[in-house]
Amino acid sequence: MSKETNNDRRYRDRAFEDVDSNHGWYVCKKCGRHFRKGDMDIDHIIPQKYGGNNTRGNLQCICKHCNRSKGASLSDTVPDLVSRRIELAKRDLGK
Ligand SMILES: [Zn+2]
Repeated sequence: MSKETNNDRRYRDRAFEDVDSNHGWYVCKKCGRHFRKGDMDIDHIIPQKYGGNNTRGNLQCICKHCNRSKGASLSDTVPDLVSRRIELAKRDLGK
């Protein structure tokens, strides 16, 4: 994974504000298991190496294990982008 910079920390914090948590527990989008914030990663749906940016529509909260196995694969990119769009629209509309 890339080195953590100030910029990384900013997008992480912003991304977590867009994610539902249940008293500090987060649900991994990939495996559906529950984790504490420290075990969650903010994943770039379009990987940064393919030009993916730090906007909220390109970030999703998945566990470190799923993020590692995903790597820079593009196989889930389109469905993940769609589900992220739907999720954000629901949040913005107050569900
Ligand atoms: Zn997971």
